[in-house]
Amino acid sequence: MSPPNLALPPAPPALSYELFPPRTPAAADSLWETIRALESTHPDYVSVTYGASGSNRDTAVSLLRQLQETSLRPLAHLTCIGNTAQELALLIAELLDHGVRGILALRGDRAPSQTRASEQPDERGLLHAQDLVELIRRVEQRRSALLAAGKLAIGVAAYPAKHPESPDSAHDIEVLLAKQRSGADFAITQVFFHPAEYEDLLSRAQRAGVSIPIIPGLMPLTSLVRLRRLAELSGAAPDEALLAELAAVDDDATRRRIGVAATVRLARVALEAGAPGIHLYTFNEHRSALDVLERLDLPRPAA
Ligand code: FAD
Repeated sequence: MSPPNLALPPAPPALSYELFPPRTPAAADSLWETIRALESTHPDYVSVTYGASGSNRDTAVSLLRQLQETSLRPLAHLTCIGNTAQELALLIAELLDHGVRGILALRGDRAPSQTRASEQPDERGLLHAQDLVELIRRVEQRRSALLAAGKLAIGVAAYPAKHPESPDSAHDIEVLLAKQRSGADFAITQVFFHPAEYEDLLSRAQRAGVSIPIIPGLMPLTSLVRLRRLAELSGAAPDEALLAELAAVDDDATRRRIGVAATVRLARVALEAGAPGIHLYTFNEHRSALDVLERLDLPRPAA
């Protein structure tokens, strides 16, 4: 056993990006320009989203496989919605066979027309992200001999502002704790616009016994349209002062400068509050993400 008072070296903040699978050949070309640009910043991993309808399954798997050929480490998003448990078990096994060693286990957003998986007994879908964490651990256990050189890291979602379907924020913390108990290793947050929401999430989670790292998910706050849309989708209250500031200018360069500065402020407060790193939602564009990173001057391990 190592001595309890051993001085362990501090861990540098983690850096990661989110990408989504391209929908057209032109989008694929521009995505690869972004991937190459982001690669130069040596992120710890790059996550690839998964459509909750399961419709982009093949493009997501293909992008994950292509990323394995770069210096980047992919993290595959997976959702309960859109797949039966059997399909998910096969997909998890397929990802492992392709060398993927990180999965973000999510429920996915239900389209208004979709029924709950549990209401279709013949399809045996999974109801909550927690069920998916458990399924991933079961598939992993079956392959433990194969995985001797690289166990899986499982991430889950966390919510600085209450999840739209939750009765209250305390329920969100209970769910996060349940996901940790089921085997989650880390969490990435939904977008948020006020630093106090993230600080509050950290302290409430710690008090409740959540010990896994909770990484703030940050979007570059440069697009007015996207900001409004994300605020609406996530239920997070937008920063009205920033919206007004962005709306008052009519050139893209100034808007980007204002948005990047606001994102850097948000990231700094989160890091000072104890964030173990940052996860940037890139929307498959690298310029704003790189601007944020340059201004943030995040200490990174030597490449
Ligand atoms: P859950 O943890 O299952 O929670 C969903 C709801 O059910 C919550 O209200 C929760 O409180 C409740 N709940 C959960 N467990 C229980 C339980 N045991 N008992 C009672 N209630 C419970 N969506 C996509 O479709 N594709 C993506 O690639 C994607 N990537 C994302 C990445 C990040 C970092 C984040 C934060 C979100 C992402 N989403 C994605 C959106 C996500 O799918 C939605 O926020 C979804 O509504 C909830 O997902 P979840 O994993 O938090 O689900």
